[in-house]
Amino acid sequence: MERSHYNSELSLANLNQKVTLLGWVSKRRNLGSLLFIDLRDRSGIVQVVVNDGVEIPDVRNEYVIQVKGVVAARGVANPKLKTGEIEVVAEQIILLNSAKTTPLIIADETDALEETRLKYRYLDLRRPVMQKYFDIRDTIKMTVHSFMHQNHFIEIETPMLCASSPEGAKEYLVPSRVHPGSFYALPQSPQMFKQLLMVAGFERYYQIARCFRDEDLRADRQPDFTQIDIETSFLDQNQFLSLMENLVQQIFKNTINYDVPLPLRQMTYHEAMERFGSDKPDTRFGLELNNLKAVFASSGFAAFAAAEAIRAIVVPGVADITTRKVIDELNLEAKKFGLGGLTVIKKENGVLTGSILKMLSEAEIKGLEDVLTVNNNDIIILAAGADNRVTPLLGAIRIKYGRQLGLVKEGTYDLLWVIDFPMFERDVETGEIHASHHPFTRPRDEDLPYLDTDPTKVLSYAYDIVINGYEAGGGTMRIYNQDVQRKIFEILGLSPEDINKKFGYFVDALQYGTPPHAGMAFGLDRLAMILGGTDNIRDVIAFPKNLAAVDPMTNAPTPVTDKQLEELGIKIVE
Ligand code: ASP
Repeated sequence: MERSHYNSELSLANLNQKVTLLGWVSKRRNLGSLLFIDLRDRSGIVQVVVNDGVEIPDVRNEYVIQVKGVVAARGVANPKLKTGEIEVVAEQIILLNSAKTTPLIIADETDALEETRLKYRYLDLRRPVMQKYFDIRDTIKMTVHSFMHQNHFIEIETPMLCASSPEGAKEYLVPSRVHPGSFYALPQSPQMFKQLLMVAGFERYYQIARCFRDEDLRADRQPDFTQIDIETSFLDQNQFLSLMENLVQQIFKNTINYDVPLPLRQMTYHEAMERFGSDKPDTRFGLELNNLKAVFASSGFAAFAAAEAIRAIVVPGVADITTRKVIDELNLEAKKFGLGGLTVIKKENGVLTGSILKMLSEAEIKGLEDVLTVNNNDIIILAAGADNRVTPLLGAIRIKYGRQLGLVKEGTYDLLWVIDFPMFERDVETGEIHASHHPFTRPRDEDLPYLDTDPTKVLSYAYDIVINGYEAGGGTMRIYNQDVQRKIFEILGLSPEDINKKFGYFVDALQYGTPPHAGMAFGLDRLAMILGGTDNIRDVIAFPKNLAAVDPMTNAPTPVTDKQLEELGIKIVE
């Protein structure tokens, strides 16, 4: 079709030129003898003016039209529009297609329910702000492709239909028609394949990979999602992280023109938990956690003396608005983390107040004030109990207050590596031990002796990149010695038969000259979300699922016909 320009290309430089444009009617205003049309195409909006006497077809919002006309200067420029200094005086408008009244308004601001937005996703995606998110997403991918090839990486696809191998989350299973009763699994990540590509000698691999995890959804999670998946041979941890942060720096530059200062700082998992109560700390504000164990070590108050951990944060200037209701909510939060409750102490008129104080000795109260800096109208939020409950609870409360008090400056970015994660973690509920990252993670050399004595003490060569409190990516140095790999599987409770059945091919492969290797995966969706400035991951995925893992447009997942089930040899049990 004939088109001379994209809308946003037009400026005063095109004055008096004849142009032909294509697009959608975004708005129509009839001012008696003049008709104004905002014409929208992928690039943006331009104002079209139709003078009295020019015959045009009936056009309404979202009609598709071709406009032929001449570029003129506007009497009064519109600074909000990129093309605000000009307008196109129409000579002819050709109707290409009409449109029904749309169930949501095609504009950046929308009050449409998310369910409506997802059901009419093709209209939701027509909103300029959504198109901006996808431009950013596309720029990230372009940057990855060019950076990786400049740095001698090769892009290789790995299968979607894989053998089942639980990596942590639940898998999506795909029944095999040719082998009734057998199933493929969709990959949670290409983890073992990319390691095998290192055994195969490719040295540097990457892939923009679709991954699938059947998990409970949250605002920043989706059942199918996309990772920038990377694996390298022969780099030590700092060489690898340095390469990766250069990639991140380019992504920030190309998408939002932001200069990330390098090198990124590295914080141990231990420090992140101690200070921020999170392995993905948002370090753009303070409200840090304080360890009060020493203050209460020999407390007469049994609940404190016996507690594995006692920690507190001080929230400034909120004592007067910390009502009974607020305290009840905080206690509710503590219950969600498996604690009985928490303690709030206020500082009012220069003194600490709170029912807990009568349980504590004068020395303890003084100790409390020595460790914490508490000013008038501040509150202390104190939690005692199992450390794997106390610490994340206070981390979550810290984030809540950081937001509530507006401590985070919009448009600022905070990037860091969190390193030295524990190799294993113990399930709070069941007491079972499992791999913190995945079982292919290499334990730190100096911690190898603990594998036999106390595996929970073992730290690993694992690293996450954290951006503004989001885990934007993570990875590990890998085990390349089959004896260590077997030992890790054993600690995870896998019998030799289990190991052979699930990972036999993999453990086998390690024996054929495996290079030292390391890798990571960035969450492409998370990166796009952070750089797009939204906190909803669904905004940066074209056709996402809702929080119930349903796509309201296609209705997936749907039941299938009896015939389909029969072919697969599957019976549905109610
Ligand atoms: N496969 C890992 C993940 O998805 C990343 C990695 O270790 O490379 O979290």
